Amino acid sequence: MKIGFIGLGNMGLPMALNLLKAGHEVIGFDLVKSQLDAFAAAGGAIAPNANATAKDAEIVFTMLPASKHVEGLYLGEHGLLVNANPETLLVDCSTISPKVAQAVATAAKEKGFTMIDAPVSGGTAGAQAGTLTFMVGGNPEDVERARPLLEKMGKNIFHAGVSGAGQTVKVCNNMLLGIQMLGTSEALRLGIANGMDPKVLSDIMSKSSGRNWALELYNPCPGVMENVPSSKGYAGGFGVDLMLKDLGLAVENAKNLEANIPLGKMAQHLYESHSKAGNGQLDFSSVFNLQKAD
Ligand code: NAD
Repeated sequence: MKIGFIGLGNMGLPMALNLLKAGHEVIGFDLVKSQLDAFAAAGGAIAPNANATAKDAEIVFTMLPASKHVEGLYLGEHGLLVNANPETLLVDCSTISPKVAQAVATAAKEKGFTMIDAPVSGGTAGAQAGTLTFMVGGNPEDVERARPLLEKMGKNIFHAGVSGAGQTVKVCNNMLLGIQMLGTSEALRLGIANGMDPKVLSDIMSKSSGRNWALELYNPCPGVMENVPSSKGYAGGFGVDLMLKDLGLAVENAKNLEANIPLGKMAQHLYESHSKAGNGQLDFSSVFNLQKAD
């Protein structure tokens, strides 16, 4: 199958490489030359611009930083919706606002295209290993059309509902993750202040009602677990600024709908302070340090 892939960054490059490894013809584009070079070195074809990736492609994937990039690429007189063939299925995997995802999908439909939103969870490690979780919004038949390719990049493919539903799930999930990491850090800090060994505390809470993903699999306290960012100086993983972006989407989404998310707002505030203190590029579990006793 001929596939277009736009946005060959930290996530998009390994995802496109997995499609290539599965034997598909993949033509990619990115604004950054080093990303294009890395894709070409692995055998990918390079398009001269974004629209050229869609020429003759059955499916075009986009994996871009944020809502404004997705709007810019799809809409407007030089956008994909003007230049691509409406037979092409459009799949946006970026994490963006559900409202923007719905607006772009509606614009696509008006031009005769089918489009689905398919944001992911699993980070760069999941993108490399082809084990991402996809949360997909759109018509069931379009989701089924994309599924064989999504399965080459991910392990779990969920149809969440109508257009924008994939983004809604992603926003809810990451807001919960951000809050959970803060709560886990706070509980560990309190135990440590009481003289507890954080490993003993974590082991017991992991078998008690406080168990959660951050505690069990991504413990924020250095030394409790091997091979997690907290034991590697908080390098790698999912950056504080990426978490902040997703919390911003949650707060904006709640505002649009007049939904009440006091903990989401509090989490945004705390990650923001942590980022402003110079920690934006560290893994988000480094909020453990924000909660050090004064
Ligand atoms: P990134 O910044 O590494 O990659 C984005 C790429 O898009 C860049 O290489 C950039 O040059 C390119 N780009 C921007 N505008 C473009 C355009 N008009 N045409 C072509 N290329 C363009 O970001 P990333 O870490 O790969 O994340 C991509 C998306 O995935 C984001 O929405 C992010 O929130 C989401 N996400 C990231 C992670 C993660 O762990 N990094 C995890 C889950 C979801």
